[in-house]
This record gives sequence, structure tokens and C-alpha cells, in this order.
Amino acid sequence: MRADLHTHSLASDGTDLPAEVVRKAARAGLDVLALTDHDSTSGWEPAAGAALEAGITLVRGIEISTRHRGRSVHLLAYLPDPTHEPLVALLAGIVDGRNERMPGIVKALQDHGLQISEDDVRREAGATAASGRPHVADALVRLGAARDRSEAFRTLLDPGMPGYVHRHAPSLTAAIEVVRAAGGAPVLAHPWGRGGRTVLDPEGLAELRRLGLVGIEVDHQDHDPGAREHLRALARDLDLVVTGSSDYHGLGKVDHELGVNSTAPAELERLLDRAATLAAASGRPVPGLVGPAVG
Ligand code: AMP
Ligand code: ZN
Ligand code: FE
Ligand code: FE
Repeated sequence: MRADLHTHSLASDGTDLPAEVVRKAARAGLDVLALTDHDSTSGWEPAAGAALEAGITLVRGIEISTRHRGRSVHLLAYLPDPTHEPLVALLAGIVDGRNERMPGIVKALQDHGLQISEDDVRREAGATAASGRPHVADALVRLGAARDRSEAFRTLLDPGMPGYVHRHAPSLTAAIEVVRAAGGAPVLAHPWGRGGRTVLDPEGLAELRRLGLVGIEVDHQDHDPGAREHLRALARDLDLVVTGSSDYHGLGKVDHELGVNSTAPAELERLLDRAATLAAASGRPVPGLVGPAVG
């Protein structure tokens, strides 16, 4: 049984339609797929339809953009009630923050001498609610200002670079609380990727566990073998679920093919058990799995 628990579609900054991600996952031999677009559940419905047709199990999730000790930290939320008001408000606040800072990014890049417009970015963002730096990066690539997304981030969009503009993000601890109240299971995405190690040290992870964190993504391309081993040991000590996933973005991220990392069946079972407990405790009508039962 192969499970990939973190992927993106055109509902955020991936390049495939939600249904395409699901069909590709089935073709790649995956049995379980979680669609976890940034700050949006708009891909859930088309993905669910495709999962039923393809005979693959779909776990509906969200990757929430939060801030923790001054750094950006991503929180995966599995199977929360998408109509829970505080969760809806939390996501809307992030999306509004993205939209509000976009003119500032474009202006900063123009001041830097680049001929980019808000329309250029909107074209790349398409129908997504979560338009962000990845779409600016795509526009910059199209304009010839960078070779690929990574180069655009490194030279123009990362903090400290000419096109960087701060945006609103809820605190990680608030997000964990809201996800739990919505009946979902909060799991840290790539905790030690991109400098996360400094703010998510062992004591920090223990504290988050006390606040209700359920798991950590250990097998992720941003973690080298040493980081994975260390995180796996920490998860064991802290009784956190260990997940593994591709963080697939279609053409938006190289070396993140579907199934490149996966979640062990026993860990998936633990995650679903905890999600069920949290759902019951919340009293919320949470979404179930779509497609074949797991286990
Ligand atoms: P935003 O939320 O609009 O600030 O953009 C952040 C998003 O850009 C995150 O979800 C990351 O997945 C992506 N991102 C951040 N840094 C990089 C990078 N160096 N290369 C490619 N994507 C990145
Ligand atoms: Zn992304
Ligand atoms: Fe992420
Ligand atoms: Fe992601």
C-alpha cells in the first residue's frame, strides 16, 4: 500500500488540475493520495470525483501558511470540516494577505528595473485563490528574468531580495488550535526544510506536541538522510505520527514526482485513527475518505 500525503494542484501553485493530480497518482501506482493545496479547499470537489473514477483513496487536506517565531512554517491539516467558521476565516485572512501584498511585490520588482505587471502574475495564477510568490516566479520566468522558480526565489523573491514583501500569516499555534477545532489532524509539513530547523528544534517540537500537533512530515525532499533519521527519532520519542510525501507541484517543482516519498501503512493508520478521534471530539461534520477504505 503506497500513500503520498502532500500534493498541490492548480487550486494553489501546482500546474495540474486537481482531477489530473488524482489520475496521475493512480497511474503512478499510489493507493492513497492527499491533495493539500495551499490555504484552499477549492480542489477537493473535482479531486473527489476523479478519485471515485480512478479507484484511488483520496484524503482531503490543506497546507496552511503560518508563522512561527518569525519564520514561515507550513501546517498540513487533514480532513477538517471546511465549513468551520474559524477555519474559513483563517484561510480567508491568508488569501486576503496574499492579494494585498501583490501590488507591493510588482512595484518592488518594477523599481528594481523589471517590466512586470500585476496582469502578468494574474495570468500565471489563473483561477487559484492562493496567488503568491510562486506565480510571480512563473511570470518572471516567462519574462526571461529567471530560468526557473527556484532561481526567481533565490535572486528576487526570498526574504532580503529586491522583490520580497511581507504578508499576513496566522501563528502556527493558532492554526493548530483552529484545525483541531475543525475536527482535522494537524501535521507539520517539511519541518526542517528551508531553515526550519532553527525554529522547530526538539524542544519546540515537544511544545507543539503538547499543543496538539499530531504528526510531522519526515520523508520530504527538503530533508537529507541525516535530518530524516533525526526527525524519525524525535517523532518516536514524542509519539508523533511520521508521514512521507512528494509535495508534488507538477511542473512547478523539480524532483518532487508523485510517490517519490511515501507514508508507511502503519503510520497512515495511526494518522487516520487520530483524525477520527479529533473529529469525534470536535463534533464537526468532517469529510471522510473518498474511494476504497484503507487497511
Ligand atoms: P507565498 O506564500 O506567496 O509567500 O509563497 C511561498 C510559497 O512559495 C511556499 O508555499 C513555497 O512552496 C514556495 N517557495 C518558497 N521558497 C521557494 C523557493 N526557494 N523555490 C521554490 N518555491 C518556493
Ligand atoms: Zn506550493
Ligand atoms: Fe510547503
Ligand atoms: Fe507543499
